[in-house]
Amino acid sequence: MAEHIEESAVFSCPHCSTELKLAQHEAHCVNGHSFDRSREGYINLIVGGRLPTATTSGDTPESLLARRRFFATHSYMPIATALKESLGVIDGPVLDVGCGEGFYLTHIDATEKYAIDIAKKAVQLTNKLIPTARCAVASAFRLPIMNHSCAAVFSVFSPHSFEEFQRVLQPGGTWVTVTPGPHHLQQMRPQRDQSILEREERRSEPPVQAQHAKRIQFDLDLSIEAARDLFSMTPLVWQTAANATPTTHVSVDVWVSRGTAS
Ligand SMILES: [Zn+2]
Repeated sequence: MAEHIEESAVFSCPHCSTELKLAQHEAHCVNGHSFDRSREGYINLIVGGRLPTATTSGDTPESLLARRRFFATHSYMPIATALKESLGVIDGPVLDVGCGEGFYLTHIDATEKYAIDIAKKAVQLTNKLIPTARCAVASAFRLPIMNHSCAAVFSVFSPHSFEEFQRVLQPGGTWVTVTPGPHHLQQMRPQRDQSILEREERRSEPPVQAQHAKRIQFDLDLSIEAARDLFSMTPLVWQTAANATPTTHVSVDVWVSRGTAS
């Protein structure tokens, strides 16, 4: 009996860019390149093993589990809601670039969900949370995604490439990013390091590529556990003394930006 082959029409071979076909235990292209598929269904499309360190680090398992606990407090629901509204009704495949543990993808209205993350643990958690989603370990800067195959692409607090967004989106397709605003988690920031403050200031505007940007601001009063989880799921954890006790009153300030592929 022939093995069931799923047509993906979205994932592409990271070696030769032709369409990947998904079989039960592997994914393969027409040129004979094949990739292991886990029991849960996700595929590992990292090739070469020579990506620069900055693109391969990803979130640690501890950070991903802190994220899951924090999201369970519903503190970031306004962000998920704004993301969902900005994406609107999606007719076709939607791709989450840097899916983390899957929280935002669960709140999107779409029937065909795809997700990539550089961290294998993130992809495992997303795949388990959303068994119908097609997930892959992959780089956001070299998406293993067919040209013009996605109706929408989004990225929340995660590195991404607008060139790649344009390449993978269908003409007229929508991209949405969520990025920090000027006062995002300012109570958790180290106060004395001027270079970090200046760098964050420069990063706190919506992307120039955006055609529309909405600023979302609200304050949170967290339990000490939730504050610790929030603290450890942000890059700030690497910028501040590891034993610092985080403040429980924090300001959330983000840009939800949107653009359309030409
Ligand atoms: Zn190939």
